[in-house]
Formats: sequence, structure tokens, C-alpha cells
Amino acid sequence: MRCEVENSKGEQCDRDALASWGICKTHLYRLDRYNDVQADRPIRQYTMRVPRSYPRYPGDDEAERFWSRVVKTSNHWWWTGSLTGPQGVPQAMWGGYTRTAAQIIWELAHGPIEPNTIIRHTSDCGESDCVRLSHLTDQPARVEVPA
Ligand SMILES: [Zn+2]
Ligand SMILES: [Zn+2]
Repeated sequence: MRCEVENSKGEQCDRDALASWGICKTHLYRLDRYNDVQADRPIRQYTMRVPRSYPRYPGDDEAERFWSRVVKTSNHWWWTGSLTGPQGVPQAMWGGYTRTAAQIIWELAHGPIEPNTIIRHTSDCGESDCVRLSHLTDQPARVEVPA
């Protein structure tokens, strides 16, 4: 589904909509922040690589870098950082390891994740890009029994 936002020339936004909102992440972010999608303001093209000469504020520490990638709305908290795997799971570096953003957020709140436990979204959330702690839950990992 495409984002429903149309600018004053009648051009529809060409980004993918978030299923439960009908509009894309950027327009949702503006709506939340400015109370207006600002349909005529172009969406900046994000590039994966920032040229070395470009002074980019990296955040003073790991936590700042991490949270700079989270867009909080009144419902979901959207991850805007990198994704991994076919399902596009939010991931980040933490303590020298690449981990899922959900695991990082869970451990910040509850301490180390118990062995054989996975962190997944609650059924009320179900958005793979959401990293809001209250939308996450832990459950025992299914153990595959060899036949
Ligand atoms: Zn849009
Ligand atoms: Zn959520």
C-alpha cells in the first residue's frame, strides 16, 4: 500500500505506507511532531553512506546513537536505523555486537535476556519496525526436537 499523502499538485507520495496508518513513516513523523504532514515539503532522499567529508553528528555515545534512530509516536516507536534479514528486523550495534533493537531495548529495561528466550512484539502491536518497550514481550524459544 502506498502512502495516501498528496501534495497540492495532486502528486501522491511514492513511499510505502505503514499498514495501520495509511501513510509513510516520514509523513507520520511530521504529523506527530508538527500536527501536519506538510505534504508540500519534499522528503529528503536518504543515502546509505555519508561521504567522509560530511560532518555527521554521530551521538556522543552508544545510547545517543541508538535513540537517534527511534521516532516516537503516541502509539508505536518506529525504528529508522538498519534492518536485517528478509523480514527487515531492526538491528543496531551494542557493546561491540550487532543485535536486534528489540533485544537491546529489552535488556536496557530488564537486564540480560534469559537463555532460550526470544523477544517478540505483543499481539496489539505486531509492527516489525516498532521498538517500544511496552509493545515487546518475552517468550520461551521453541526448541526443535530432532526426529
Ligand atoms: Zn508519505
Ligand atoms: Zn508497536
